[in-house]
This record gives sequence, C-alpha cells and structure tokens, in this order.
Amino acid sequence: MRTSHNFSGGPGALPEVVIEQASEALRQAPGSDLGLLGISHRSDWFREVLDEAERNTRRLLGLSEDYAVLFLQGGGSLQFSMVPMLLLRGSATAADYVHGGYWSGKAVPEARLEGRVRLAWDGSRCGFSRLPSDDELKLAPDAAYLHYVSNETVEGLQFQRVLGREQVLRVCDMSSDFMSRPVALERYAIVYAHAQKNLGPSGVTLVIGRKALLAREPAPMPSMLSYRHHLQQRSIFNTPPVFAIYVTLLVTRWLLEDIGGLSRMDALNRQKAEALYRLIDDSEGFYRGRAELGSRSLMNVVFGLAAPELEQAFLAEALRAGLHGLPGHRSIGGIRASLYNAVSLESVHRLCEVMRDFRLRNRG
Ligand SMILES: *Cc1c(COP(=O)(O)O)cnc(C)c1O
Repeated sequence: MRTSHNFSGGPGALPEVVIEQASEALRQAPGSDLGLLGISHRSDWFREVLDEAERNTRRLLGLSEDYAVLFLQGGGSLQFSMVPMLLLRGSATAADYVHGGYWSGKAVPEARLEGRVRLAWDGSRCGFSRLPSDDELKLAPDAAYLHYVSNETVEGLQFQRVLGREQVLRVCDMSSDFMSRPVALERYAIVYAHAQKNLGPSGVTLVIGRKALLAREPAPMPSMLSYRHHLQQRSIFNTPPVFAIYVTLLVTRWLLEDIGGLSRMDALNRQKAEALYRLIDDSEGFYRGRAELGSRSLMNVVFGLAAPELEQAFLAEALRAGLHGLPGHRSIGGIRASLYNAVSLESVHRLCEVMRDFRLRNRG
C-alpha cells in the first residue's frame, strides 16, 4: 500500500502504471533499441507516438476530422497570446472574456496587447467565490470570440455547462479539467490545455481547434506562434517535447484501456469530490469550502479553517501522514486538494480520515 499521496495543484499526480512504463522507456523505448531521451523526433518511431496520441485523443473526445489536434510548447500561458494573435489582431470588434479567477485574469492583459477586450463578467467583485449564471454574463452578439476558463484551478471554481451563443466563436482554457469528463468539443472553436495538471508532464500543450479557423491566419506570423504552421508541420516544426508527448500518450492509453473512457473517468472524479465536499459540509464549520455551492470544482477542492495557525497545524499534520501538495496557491493561501484523474479514491479516503481525525482533536 502507498504511504504518500499527491494532491499537488500542478504538475499533478500521474497514474502509477504510467510512471512505471515511462521509467522503463527511459532505458529502452518499446519498439526501439534506444532510450526515450535519445530518439530522434524525425524517426518513424516518434511519428507513430504522435499519431497514436492524436488517435487516442480523437477517440476519447469523439472528434471529427474538422478538428486538428496540435501538440505545442509554451504552456497554457502562450495560448493566452496565440489565441488573440489569431482571432483579435486587426479585428473590428472586441473579444468577450469571462474573468472568473486567477488564470482567466492572466489571459486578459495578453489579449489586450492584440485588440479590444470586454469583460463579460468580473468575478473580482465577489472575490472569485462563485461563477456567473447565464443572466449575469454580458455577451455581445458580435464579439470576435468568447474566452473562458472551464475550471479555475486556484479558487476551485468549475463551470458545469458550455457558455455563450452559438454564433460567437468559443475558446476555452481547459488546462486543469481536460479529459476529466466528456466534453462537447464541436461546440468550441479552440480548446487548449497544457498537460501538466491532468494529462501528463509539463512541456506539452494540446490545442484542439477547427482546422479551417486555425489555417485562416490573416497576416504572416513568426512560425512558432503560427497555428497554421504547426498544422502544416503536424506538430513537428522544430524539436517537440518528446518525453512529455510520450508520457501523455501513455496517459491517453490509460484513460482508454484502464479507465474505460471519459464517462467512466467523470464518474470516478465525482465520487472523489463528493466524498471530500461531504466531509467539509458535515464538519459544522470547522472546514470551510471557499466556492459557493453551484460553482464548486470537482478537480480542485479549496477550503480553509477558522484561523491561519490552525491551517498551518493541519498542513503539517497532513504532511506527516504522507499527504503532499495541499497548501493553497500562493496568491490566496488556505488549503487546496487537487483531485486530478490520477488521484485515487483511496488517496481521497486517506485525506478524509486525516481531516476527520484532526477535527476531533482540534474542534475546541
Ligand atoms: C496552471 C494553469 C495555467 C498556466 O499554465 P502554464 O503551462 O504554466 O503556462 C493556465 N490556465 C489554467 C487554467 C491553469 O490552471
């Protein structure tokens, strides 16, 4: 039985079996005489890795051929710029941005470098304690596009619906809940997600978008910032992050073969989050959930205790019990349990046990 449990906000936990397979591949990659870190990205071996990663992604999401799957670098943060460089630069109309939390807030100033941005919702007014209802969203029918973050990783807020109007292009940052549940991808123009929270190691970012849109590119761009270029080069323009892409491939196999697809993943994720939220809600105010009920994230459960000293005592005790990665994001403090795909129900039960025990001894 494992004695340490990983609740890190990112890079996050990866499946045990994937770690084992990746470790072996470092010495000798399956189907090759070489170790993973020394194989050329121009080899047939790596082309097949990319092709399978794309096939698996398409299968998991039920993607049509109208959509491209790109494996890029620069993290979620570079997408904050690449999206408006394609869709906002030179546009006569503004883009609508939902400012729902820390990460969507990071996207806004990058977009403003390229054109006009309107805030369809400004969650800073309520301290990012909840997400907006449809009535509260101010959406322009002629917006260049709508951008939002499906899961606000820092505050622990998650949308349980698709936002916006059908006639406006939707762009969504799904970095912290991608592949955690089924998603109607055909309703989006572009979706992006870096791998390191829910899908693999840091170094690779998946971009899934309508081929015709990505290829549209009105004016020449630097190659590395051009979706069209990466599309033409099938994600091998320059040296891609071979290791990160290989591990991401292993995770997609795990999702398909071990888990059995995204509906099954979703059911498991719900079980984990429900167990932890139930404990928080039944603690008579000892543990305090940060997000309002309708906005709670299944991926990042953010909570606090009555006083900072009590939080520190809890975190120290949790660490002694082998529970890692629980301190909240540096911008807001508190406690955050990230329950990404690879975090087991057993780990969540262990966390609940430690929380129950800590409460019994400290409720005063
Ligand atoms: C962590 C995070 C980012 C930042 O991604 P980098 O790969 O570090 O640039 C962006 N968006 C969301 C939703 C995140 O959780």
